[in-house]
Amino acid sequence: MPCKSSNVDDREIARFESVAATWWDPHGPYGSLHDINPIRLEFIRAHADLDGKQVLDVGCGGGILSESMAALGGRVTGIDMAQSCLAAARLHLRRSALTVEYRQATAEEFAVDHRRKFDVVTCMELLEHVPRPPSVVHACSQLLKPGGRLFFATLNRNIKSFLFAIVGAEYVLRLLPAGTHRHAKFIRPPELIDWAAAERLSLLQARGMRYNPFTRRYALCADLSVNYLMCFHAPGDPGLKYAGTV
Ligand code: SAH
Repeated sequence: MPCKSSNVDDREIARFESVAATWWDPHGPYGSLHDINPIRLEFIRAHADLDGKQVLDVGCGGGILSESMAALGGRVTGIDMAQSCLAAARLHLRRSALTVEYRQATAEEFAVDHRRKFDVVTCMELLEHVPRPPSVVHACSQLLKPGGRLFFATLNRNIKSFLFAIVGAEYVLRLLPAGTHRHAKFIRPPELIDWAAAERLSLLQARGMRYNPFTRRYALCADLSVNYLMCFHAPGDPGLKYAGTV
């Protein structure tokens, strides 16, 4: 069990553990992670060629993003604190015949022995679930090779995100189980940019995710007011393909 000083909220981990078995059901409690995955990959691919690269997926859950990055040729490691989510990820991997290494760890713990090991680090839908998000940003920056790319996805904190991401998504459309998110834990884009700047990471691009409830499809957009993605660049030689904007 994580000690009290660790950057883990045990209630959050217990909640993710409780639905782990349904992680790969596209119509299950975390169906929206399946729905957003294609545009997350679109965003990642615009900023990094994953083929043959060392990729770390922080807070990988059941492995939806990890597997899709492995399918693009990434040598992916997924870390998460929820054992049952990792079990679901390992089970699914057997069916998909891809290669991903799954480990139980926080970013902070993993950074101790894996400094500067990864070309690409992804940390999606995790920051809003930890007690101290700047500590995760710090650990992710330590895990990156010079010139590496760091991707975050999280939720903005304002009235609109309360109405759309909590009232709308959890209670009206029931896209997510009620209680998945706490509005106070959401993160304004300038906050994330400041935490990253403290690690000498520079922002390459920020994009919003827009949901169409009729088609049940997401698209990338310029509006960061609810869900958004950011790509940061670690200091050093870029080394990776940058395909421009999406
Ligand atoms: N990144 C995945 C899953 C997001 S759900 C995706 O977007 O598809 C958030 C995940 O973060 C859960 O699996 C939860 O167990 C994990 N998590 C929460 N706090 C964590 C921490 N401090 N360290 C590592 N994983 C954590």
